Parts: sequence; structure tokens; C-alpha cells
Amino acid sequence: MNLTKSTILRINLTDKTHTEESIDPAAFKKYLGGRGMASKILYDEVDPTIDPLSPGNKLIFANGLLSGTSAPTGGRYMVVTKSPLTGTIACSNSGGFFGAVLRRAGYLMAIVEGKSEKPVYLSIYDNNIEFHDASHLWGLTTDKATDMIQDEFGEKRARVACIGPAGENLSPLACVINDKSRAAGRSGVGAVMGAKNLKAIVVKGSNVVKLDDQDIFNETIKAKTALINKHPVTGEALPALGTKVLDNIINQGGLYPTRNFQFCTFDATDEVSGEALISKGYFRSNKACFACPIGCGRYTELPNGRSGEGPEYESSWAFGADCGVSDLIAISEANFLCNEYGLDTISAGTTIAAAMELYEKGYIQKEELGNGPELRFGSSEAIVFYTKQMALREGIGDKLADGSYRLAARYGHPELSMSVKKQELPAYDPRVVQGHGLNYATSNRGGCHVRGYMISPEVLGVPEKLDPQELAGKPDWVIIFQNLTAAIDSIGMCLFTSFALGLEDYTDLVNAATGFGLQPEEVLKVGDRIWNLERLFNLKAGITPDMDTLPDRFFKEPIPDGPHKGAVSQMRKLLPEYYAKRGWQNDGTIPDSKLNDLGMRHDSAVTQKH
Ligand code: SF4
Repeated sequence: MNLTKSTILRINLTDKTHTEESIDPAAFKKYLGGRGMASKILYDEVDPTIDPLSPGNKLIFANGLLSGTSAPTGGRYMVVTKSPLTGTIACSNSGGFFGAVLRRAGYLMAIVEGKSEKPVYLSIYDNNIEFHDASHLWGLTTDKATDMIQDEFGEKRARVACIGPAGENLSPLACVINDKSRAAGRSGVGAVMGAKNLKAIVVKGSNVVKLDDQDIFNETIKAKTALINKHPVTGEALPALGTKVLDNIINQGGLYPTRNFQFCTFDATDEVSGEALISKGYFRSNKACFACPIGCGRYTELPNGRSGEGPEYESSWAFGADCGVSDLIAISEANFLCNEYGLDTISAGTTIAAAMELYEKGYIQKEELGNGPELRFGSSEAIVFYTKQMALREGIGDKLADGSYRLAARYGHPELSMSVKKQELPAYDPRVVQGHGLNYATSNRGGCHVRGYMISPEVLGVPEKLDPQELAGKPDWVIIFQNLTAAIDSIGMCLFTSFALGLEDYTDLVNAATGFGLQPEEVLKVGDRIWNLERLFNLKAGITPDMDTLPDRFFKEPIPDGPHKGAVSQMRKLLPEYYAKRGWQNDGTIPDSKLNDLGMRHDSAVTQKH
């Protein structure tokens, strides 16, 4: 198989039709696949000013270049659309098996257009595409809907990506859940699916993705897998403790956001850490996505018999330290509810944290909570109760369902939302990690840690240790991390491989699979191209450069505790240099000369219709 001869499936939900199209093979060299290729298609085909929940928005399920191959972690897919949470372009990445099986069915991506009049689900079995009534599935949680669809499809091993009640209720915090527990989590992509009345996509594929020169590819895979297996992070820490290896590290580093980012250390970290998950007896086994040698996933079982995947570090932090909660059972339950109801754990947990601060400061009144528990920091009852209320839009949950920014703005205090471009920040305080703060501020999808994970050098010392408070050189680091991440997403590999692999390794894999003969700088340039393309979409959507900032708390309130007591964010000092190094104007816009440099002026990704 020649990977660059890939097919796109285009689905029209309005009139229940589908077509197949080819991608221009030359476009692969420019965008690789996944995030890059899908962003290009969205940019070309969707008006950036469109209402994200209107039928004109498109929802693209996109595999990376190597998704579905045996490349280590080559099972990543992305959901690309315009976000109802941020108004920016959204690319939400997930693992599991759904993407790889979509590739085995013969499709690099599926572009979903229009809107069905009634709830439907879509089945893809190789090139046999069918639309099915989903009225009986509407309202079901993702686990139940998945079971029923697999039964109806007659294939227990078919892979399902679906939404839960949160997506149906158009919460901009809604995610797409595949394989019952893997989430295309951020930016509200599940609400776009809900707005289209699309409950699920079920896929089965019978074609193994075998390359024209599989022997050379196999040798390269073997060498890169060996690097992954021997690296202390990917070969030891992640398999042993999952992402929750971070709880103690981040807390000891004094950047573990606590009580809606009011503090930076949490005195009960020992109760909620990855180590605690094991010592309390809740951890059952590792879980791995398709073709993954790392297996960072946690399968857990609580004393009450509830079981499932997670919680991951970010999820556990959002419901834990950020809400001041030290009860690992309640945290795990809130995480399970998010998987079942289809909510992004980071945004859901941190929205409850913002609500707790609003309540404790007297802006939310007790009467508004009905029979619900008080929204007080430390309440394990509250995190479970309001997660469910949020997904169902019941009681005050109707307001929480719109995310922390809209919630806090409603009460006249938007400054209490710890978000960038209305998307909630993850589990690292930007007053400590100055490069990571710049990354948050400039992220093309709002508050996010996986657009350029500067925690790696600024805290973990990979590939080298940087002083987190130092400013010199940070814009260069952020740009390289952002560009490299965009390229890795487009290749279709898990970002965690970047602890062990460098730019040359990814280039080797791309070249072995395609014969492109790319130089490492060219792969990095692909990432630069994608970053600029996303920025262009956002600028046209009305996301202005003055939104490249952080919540006021990080500039005005020095850290009150921990080893970085007294620190504030210096992000504003770094931004002009960041713009200049990106080749942008002083005002944050992109000059034509930059687009010319990147060869972006007159290209198009999709060429022929079959
Ligand atoms: S490292 Fe973890 S998230 Fe990444 S592919 Fe492997 S199991 Fe999935």
C-alpha cells in the first residue's frame, strides 16, 4: 500500500449520501495527515465565522499519516472542527483503536457535513456505508450506546466513537468517546457531533495496512521501539504509574494548581497520586492503545465495584487538587461519569473549581443549588453531583455546562475562570513555568498543555533541563515544541513518544513509510505550516491577538505557597519576541512573506472526486 494514495470518505447527513475522494499525494509532503491535512480541509471548506453548532460546520475524523500502521503508538486519530467552546479551530486527539480500524476500512479520514433531521448513527464496514436510526440510543451513556451498537452491528469487536448526553445537550465541554474510554476530549467537539444529530460512528475494517516496502519500515519501527522501551519515562515511569506519575513531581515542583489556581501545592497529594492508586488497591492493569509499546492507561476498580479506565493525571488533578478534593474514590467516580456522559474531564473539573470559588466568594447563592451539595472546596459529594448535573444540564448544571468562562462571566467575574480563549487550563501553574505559560497564551485552541509540552524541559529535564523561571531562549523553545507537536499529531503518533524520540526519529519513520526523503528541518517546517494555518483560521474567525494572554490572576496575584512563592507570570515580556521569531508582525498578524516562505499561498489538499 502506498500511504499517500489515501481515500477520504465524505458523509452528508442532511441527505444521507456519501462520496469518496482522493488526497493530492503532494499534499502529504506539506501536511503529512491528521491535524495538518484536516485543518487544511477545514480552512478551505468552512467559513471561519460560522456558528460552530450550525449545519455548515464540518466534523472531520482524521487519521495521521502512520495511523493504522504498526508504527509505535500509530493508532492516533483526531477530530477537527470549529470549536463551540473557543470559537477557534479545534483539533482533539485520541488513541484507542477507532482510528486504526477506520484506516483498515480504507479511509484516512471521514468528513461529516450537514445535519440529520433525526438522531442517526453511521456504520462503516470497509466501503459499505450505512445510516441507521439512533432515536433509541439518544440519551444513553457512551458505554451503553457502544454495547447496543455493537450488538445491532453484529460485531462485538467493531469500534465505536460516540457522544453521551453532554454532546446531545450541546455542552461546549462535550467530547467524543471511542472504545468506551478514550476521548477526543477538548474544545467541545462532542457538541458539534450532537448538533448534527450524529450519535455514533461504528467501524470495522478488513484490510491490514501493509506498506509497499514493509521490510524497511519494520526495521525502522524496531529501532524506534527500542528507544522508547529503554527511555526512563516511556520505558519505566509511564508503564508503572501512567500519567499519574506526575502528581508528586508537579506538587513538589510547586506548580500543582490547587483550589482554582489559588495555590500551587496540595497537602493531600499522597492520597490521590499514581502511587496511591496502587497502594489503595484500585489499580488493576495497564491499558494500551493500538500498536503502543508504552501502555500508560490505567484500568481501575473501586471498592464499590465501579470500574473503568483512568483517572489520568489531568482528570484526577481537575477533580482533585483543583477542587481541593482528596478522596480518590470520588475523583475516580467523577472521571468515570465524564467517560460515560461524554464530558472533557479537564474542563468539567476546573469548571466546578471555578464554581466553588464563585460560591465561596458569595457570587453563587445557596438557593441556586436546589437540593445539591454546597459548592465548597474539598467536597467530594459536589464533584460527583455537579458532574452529572452538568452533562444533563439540570439545575445549576445548565450554567456549568457552558464552561468556566461563560459561568464566571454570568456572575460578573470572568476573571475567576482559569482559561485561555475560554478553554480551561490544565494542571501546571504558568507563574512557575514561564515557557509553558507562553505556550498556553499562544495555543491555537486555547488553554492546553499538548500543543507544546514545555513541562518536559522546564520540569522533567527532557531533552535537557531548563530553569522554569528563566526567560532567555524560551520563545525559541516554545516555537520548536509547538511545531514539532503539530508534526507528530499529523504523523499520527502519540505525543508521549517524544520523551524518547527526537525530530530525526520521526523523520526516519515518515521516510521509511513514504520514501519522501524529507530532511528533519522539513518535518519541522510542516509543523510551522500547520501552526500558521490554524492561526490564519483563528484570525479570520475573529480570535484577535489580544487574546494571546493568561487570566489576570497569574499577573496580579503572586504565588502564595511552595518553592516558587512570590512568582508571577512574565508571559507578556516573552510575547513580542515570540511573534518576531514566528515571523509575524508586531501586532500578531501573519505577513504574506511568511505564508510565501511556507508555500501556503496557492495549495489545496483535496483533488479528485471519484
Ligand atoms: S502512551 Fe498511553 S495514550 Fe499514548 S498511545 Fe500508548 S497507551 Fe495510548
